Amino acid sequence: MILPALTEAKGPYWRPIKYSLFPPLGLATLAAYCSTADEIDLQDEHVEELNTHDSPDLVVIQVYITNAFRAYALADHYRKKGAYVCMGGLHVSSLPKEAMPHADTIFIGPGEDTFPQFLADYKRNVAKPIYVNKERDIKNIPPIRRDLIKRHLYLVPNSIVVSRGCPHHCDFCYKDAFFEGGKSFYTQKVDAALQEIDRLPGRHLYFLDDHLLGNQKFASALFEGMKGMNRVFQGASTIDAILRGDLIEKAAEAGLRSVFVGFETLSDDNLKQSNKKQNLDKNYEQAIQRLHSLGIMINGSFVFGLDDDNNDVFKRTVDWGVQNGLTTATYHILTPYPGTRLYQSMKEEGRILHDNWDLYDTRHVVYRTKGLTPQQLKAGYDWAYRSFYSWSNIWKASWQHDKVKHTIKHFAYAGGWKKFEPLWNFMIKTRGLNKMLPLLETILSKVNGGKKEGAGPTPFPAIA
Ligand code: SF4
Repeated sequence: MILPALTEAKGPYWRPIKYSLFPPLGLATLAAYCSTADEIDLQDEHVEELNTHDSPDLVVIQVYITNAFRAYALADHYRKKGAYVCMGGLHVSSLPKEAMPHADTIFIGPGEDTFPQFLADYKRNVAKPIYVNKERDIKNIPPIRRDLIKRHLYLVPNSIVVSRGCPHHCDFCYKDAFFEGGKSFYTQKVDAALQEIDRLPGRHLYFLDDHLLGNQKFASALFEGMKGMNRVFQGASTIDAILRGDLIEKAAEAGLRSVFVGFETLSDDNLKQSNKKQNLDKNYEQAIQRLHSLGIMINGSFVFGLDDDNNDVFKRTVDWGVQNGLTTATYHILTPYPGTRLYQSMKEEGRILHDNWDLYDTRHVVYRTKGLTPQQLKAGYDWAYRSFYSWSNIWKASWQHDKVKHTIKHFAYAGGWKKFEPLWNFMIKTRGLNKMLPLLETILSKVNGGKKEGAGPTPFPAIA
């Protein structure tokens, strides 16, 4: 089982930390359907040199957009050696015709329901070229084969997913293409999710669900069950779920210490254009205040290049994030992924520039822009990262909290994440990345007391 990596993630001298965060859970989930007598080697090219000199009977490759060309090359290599090659994942589901010439079997949509059927067919020599998932059920999935994961190679070995998909339908999101033809949001049983959590060592968890708070009943029962488990965790939510009811308080009580939030844009026109209805007319600042009052750090996600953006969008967005005390920010250049409504409408308008998937990484401009030139968009995007993570802005944003300990945590988390890349590189190279986990757990631990004398703009001079 192989998760191929894009070229950048394999650099012999420099491998950005973001590629060493999470193990390949999807493949480990599918591995659970194999017989215990099957010999499985799960290889993740993001963290290790692939062994391609082996001669497996069956090769299963997970494909996402920027690893697609590498995945096809590996598939061709193994087919030449006589192996039976399967491919699945987001990109294969979006563009099955592109993937098919490289594989004996492809999977469209999530694999949990189709992979067991494939295995049964394969063992009887009657495997089909395409399996399309329509059923969608993860209520009775077997425990993930975590024994196949090389935990020491990851900063966050305890990643976990307890649902699939998301209840919303944003135009630029890959999700609808992947889940086409069936349910696009469903969850595990609460008890099964709690058992999976129980199997994970240590304290820290990272929920990789697209929207951990998306099903109120499920999330509420999950957080209730997690109380007293002494966990600290990170996850993703939308603004409306943060503002609605008391779910976010329950999450905080269960150990939520940092949340990824898709703010995307500060423009209503852009939200409408993207069908991001759940953000419309929502008070972003109120959601932020609520998270801060609960001691939850925020990773804000933003997209640049929507049609209502012009050249002042970068500074406005960075300033807003700093003033509102976001701990980290993730910026993206708008990227029309094939299979999305955004791609389709841009294709119809003749705005797609090329199909070089290597560059569909949200760092390159791959479409004809409107309010900005491609050069302005790329330069503004690069500037936004530099500016948000300048020491002065890290300090200013840290100072927006009303407790000293929150300020210190914010400063340590944001500074540690973005300002110590040589240290991360050293830890990756020496294969000691998971030794950093206790530090992460400490930063994410609960803050008690220590209220500041009136939070506000920093009284300290800029230090960068
Ligand atoms: S809220 Fe996030 S995960 Fe859900 S459809 Fe929109 S972009 Fe995708």
